[in-house]
Amino acid sequence: MLTQPDPAGFLPHARLRSLIAALRDRGYRCLGPAAENGAIVMRELDAEEDLPRGLQAEQGPGHYRLTQDPYHRYFAWANGPQAIKPLAFAPQESVWQVRRDAAGALQFEATPPAVQALAIIGVRACDLAALALQDAHFLRAGRVDAHYAARRERLFLVAVQCAEPAATCFCASTGDGPTPAAGYDLALAELSDGFVAAAGSDAGRAVLAALDLAPATTQQIEAVRQQGVAAAAAQTRRLPGRNLRDALMGRLEHPRWDAVAARCLACGNCTAVCPTCFCHAEMDVPALDGESSRHQRMWDSCFGESHGHLHGFNVRPDIRSRYRQWLTHKLATWHDQFGRSGCTGCGRCIAWCPVGIDLTEEAAAITEGAQP
Ligand code: SF4
Ligand code: SF4
Repeated sequence: MLTQPDPAGFLPHARLRSLIAALRDRGYRCLGPAAENGAIVMRELDAEEDLPRGLQAEQGPGHYRLTQDPYHRYFAWANGPQAIKPLAFAPQESVWQVRRDAAGALQFEATPPAVQALAIIGVRACDLAALALQDAHFLRAGRVDAHYAARRERLFLVAVQCAEPAATCFCASTGDGPTPAAGYDLALAELSDGFVAAAGSDAGRAVLAALDLAPATTQQIEAVRQQGVAAAAAQTRRLPGRNLRDALMGRLEHPRWDAVAARCLACGNCTAVCPTCFCHAEMDVPALDGESSRHQRMWDSCFGESHGHLHGFNVRPDIRSRYRQWLTHKLATWHDQFGRSGCTGCGRCIAWCPVGIDLTEEAAAITEGAQP
């Protein structure tokens, strides 16, 4: 975040309210992190008092618990279950509808979403990278998804450097974190008394100018750099550093697929929390009077039985083939589609898997001994 050409400013903790006010003055509805039902989730943010100050998130395989942060910081928690994904790619929505007119002819209509400009405060580097992958899918040339585009273009992203990675985080090994590098409008890095703030877009520059901050000092900028280095070094998980694409695709009959299938419940939690998964199902919902019908799409999962149905048979009839589809798409064939892995190291699929399946462990076991 400090490689931007713009000089960074310093926002004291006592002035965090003014950032929220500046965003609201520009017409943004603000969302920010909040502690709810024992987890950090994104909720309506009216003032800095709503932020989960003084909380951390202890995470492990199948484990998530909020704990106290001894330094009483605003952003000491690592990612909760929600990513930015549902705010651009809606979990369920109508994409078009059809009505019968007075003459009995069918009239098709678009159903564009009602979209409000939305500022999201507290976005992490792994989720910025995941959003770039969602953009690559939904905004690809010639195939722009109008619903996604309408929401995406009205997002204002306030990123925050991760200084306290959870035990499930491994963004350093995917090259996506823990310090935001691109894709944000504003980036904050929290120090003991406030935030080093840098703009990453014209919209961010305008907000920063309105705040009229004192420049960040050389010492503050160096402290942010060191904090990022320390957070990366503190991560204990990593993806294997070998060519996962070739290694995984060369081991489609490895016995480990059976071992992981014996544990996996095919619940789909991992795909629901994953910020890069974009699979969805489409269906028509006719009105009871037979006069109209809505065409809906909703998130789907490669762990669901129906996802593999194809013209009369199921190409993935068992959990082994579904888990293999998930891991090989995410870490291998995604390279063919998008030129990189589909994993940004957020660790959510590890923490929110009810049986604690860890994709870093599975990828390492299946590809052990493969060429680097
Ligand atoms: S595969 Fe898991 S760790 Fe990787 S981006 Fe998805 S949820 Fe995060
Ligand atoms: S890997 Fe875990 S979260 Fe994913 S479907 Fe299997 S049991 Fe559910």
